[in-house]
Amino acid sequence: MDKIILGNTGIEVTKLCFGALPLGPLQKNLSIEESGEIIAYGLKKGINFIDTAQAYGTYPHIKAALDKVDFMPVIATKSGAETYESMEKAIHEALEQMGLDYIHIFHLHAARVDVDVFEKREGALRCLLDYKKKGIIKAIGISTHNVKVVDLAAENDYIDIVFPLINKIGRGIINGTVKDMEKAIEHCQRNGKGIYLMKVLGGGTMIDDYDGSMEYAMSLPGDYSIAIGMISKEEVDYNVRYFNGERNLEGIITIKNKKIVRVSELMCIGCGTCIETCHSDAISLNENNKAFIDPSKCIQCGYCVAVCPEFSIRVV
Ligand code: SF4
Ligand code: SF4
Repeated sequence: MDKIILGNTGIEVTKLCFGALPLGPLQKNLSIEESGEIIAYGLKKGINFIDTAQAYGTYPHIKAALDKVDFMPVIATKSGAETYESMEKAIHEALEQMGLDYIHIFHLHAARVDVDVFEKREGALRCLLDYKKKGIIKAIGISTHNVKVVDLAAENDYIDIVFPLINKIGRGIINGTVKDMEKAIEHCQRNGKGIYLMKVLGGGTMIDDYDGSMEYAMSLPGDYSIAIGMISKEEVDYNVRYFNGERNLEGIITIKNKKIVRVSELMCIGCGTCIETCHSDAISLNENNKAFIDPSKCIQCGYCVAVCPEFSIRVV
């Protein structure tokens, strides 16, 4: 599989990155053992890059995969920590739960955060810089859905890697259009930032247009990797074959299985916590004071699942 170097970091990754969100507790909730098998299968098929996050709850799943392979893939993780202390805790959690001595890429997890992100997360960023100096983190990144934050990151000397949301219909992009995001990504590339893309399939919601969505993502200028969430060996096979240049693939069933994020009206207490969390403005309260998710806006990130105190949101 083709590889690229992420900006000025020297870190070499495959163009296909294994997105570990959907097999974890926020979405499919596969067992650690089964998830480990699937991730390891992807690694053995040639993928050398895994993306995860503190919030995804998939560190044990990744450790299970690492135990099954004889090489160390590039691992990127992220934390929404704001202070030095909470980021330090997040780094140690990642190291311990994945059984690592170092982490290649550690992002500020800033999906919904606005242009004051570097002020708000000043302590967390300082912590990442200290750990980079110690060699425990190799590169510092930011993951964001916000065009203006991508532009800001392009000008921030401390940021090595940017993980922006982009897809051909602009689903989930904040503070701008698809074209604006394209320009912001180019801005990052001109300034030597490593880029890998998230949600090019809209979190699975654009799966019916897999080819069109991928053609769009792969036609963007510059070198970058693309993170795709995978929950089965069939999906791994499909994506690996696609990234190896095969086209007109047939016979894949699970990759076409659409998911939907659903609220149980019976359990919902209308507290609004999920509304605050959703970076895509997909949730509102309906006339019964229950959460309603607009499928045309939802990118199936699963973040609302994690915050609901009543466990009333499910990806099904
Ligand atoms: S409704 Fe939930 S799953 Fe959908 S985009 Fe919002 S937070 Fe993510
Ligand atoms: S967080 Fe849960 S209980 Fe609160 S409004 Fe959302 S779905 Fe309902």
